[in-house]
Amino acid sequence: CGIFAYILCDLPRERKHILEVLFNGLRRLEYRGYDSAGISIDYEPCGATKSFGGLKDLAISHPPLVFRQSGKIEKLVTSVYQEVDETELDLEVSFLNHVGIAHTRWATHGPPSPKNSHPQSSGERNEFLVVHNGIVTNYMVLKETLLRHGFTFESDTDTEVIPKLAKFVYDKLSAAEDSNKTHQGGGSGVSFQQVVMEVMRQLEGAYALIFKSPHYPNELVACKRGSPLLIGIKDVANDAETRDGFSSLKDLGRSKELFLASDASALVEHTKRVMIIEDDELVHVKDGSISIFKFDPAKNFGGLRRPASVQ
Ligand code: GLU
Repeated sequence: CGIFAYILCDLPRERKHILEVLFNGLRRLEYRGYDSAGISIDYEPCGATKSFGGLKDLAISHPPLVFRQSGKIEKLVTSVYQEVDETELDLEVSFLNHVGIAHTRWATHGPPSPKNSHPQSSGERNEFLVVHNGIVTNYMVLKETLLRHGFTFESDTDTEVIPKLAKFVYDKLSAAEDSNKTHQGGGSGVSFQQVVMEVMRQLEGAYALIFKSPHYPNELVACKRGSPLLIGIKDVANDAETRDGFSSLKDLGRSKELFLASDASALVEHTKRVMIIEDDELVHVKDGSISIFKFDPAKNFGGLRRPASVQ
């Protein structure tokens, strides 16, 4: 029923601060009604960045943490503080851009329970995490297809097909990419927004979605069709704010703190600079830059070499 994200760009803060911003976001959204809540934050063991080859290696080997509860937001808050090691709460996060996502759920498919709460996950290693407002009307067809491809489902939600579809598309595009060229450094050349655009291509219904993935540490993708989504920008260095039409990439400059929410009430305490995301727009945040794409199902985007369809 409500979604919220907090992206800390190039600004060291304690983990506790990140948790509190997420919890406050949820508290601002609760007046709309909800039956469950959940969050995901990056997992950053103290000093671990140095001992890994890079941020991506670290993120993959230490997948994002997910906390979910049915019932009151304060129940979630209590359980998170019980689970997160107290000594870690005061640690400054070392990711350059920490991405936290949060959700209040008003169940449409599946009763309120921790497993049906969001973020919903692609699987054990949380390779793709999604918070979703709305309904995926064709989820049964997608679920059957994904089951045939070996995916297993833990929840009763319509939402769970979305992160699983993202993982399916990611693997498929990465395999195609790898067979086309040899990579220097071994990273996948598939972009986060390519993956999400291919997911959007498959979805029917109404949604506002926020995606988080350890394959893309420091990045976030959000998109919407029929459900509200806003972005709040605080302390922007480059004030270029023009948006002349669609179909093009708009770089709105580097920022220090970015917020996404389904409702302005969760943004006003942070910033007055709020931008409404239109239907079929996709927001990509990377290294403090915001890019907005217009999704057009008839076209290929962002150098997408071939459309991946779930057949
Ligand atoms: N349809 C989704 C579910 O039941 C999302 C509901 C919502 O908007 O909170 O999990």
